[in-house]
Amino acid sequence: MISNSSLSRRRMLALTASAVGAGLLASALPQHAHAADLPHLAENATTAVALGYREDAAKVDAAKYVTHKAGQTCANCRFFGGADKAPWAACQLFPGKAVAAKGWCSAYNAKA
Ligand code: SF4
Repeated sequence: MISNSSLSRRRMLALTASAVGAGLLASALPQHAHAADLPHLAENATTAVALGYREDAAKVDAAKYVTHKAGQTCANCRFFGGADKAPWAACQLFPGKAVAAKGWCSAYNAKA
């Protein structure tokens, strides 16, 4: 005989496994799958300000962000989910938002 608590535990385990599976599937999808539908990241958004994000890398505060180098843009950052020449695309650091290919933030990490 199976007790109610055993069934309940099995159901919870099944639901947890489903949720984990859905999360893994979502993370495996291409980052640029819906980039055209994403709202653009605002420069004054809290997280954008925290990381010094600018839509135009030429406008980065060089005195504040001394690690920024000419030529570093979102388009050549490993976190940029866009295809070549995509003007905007998802960024792994700003979920649900699109960043500008010409942009930059202090989390920049060059593509390998
Ligand atoms: Fe751009 Fe990279 Fe910063 Fe994302 S992490 S905003 S792609 S520089």
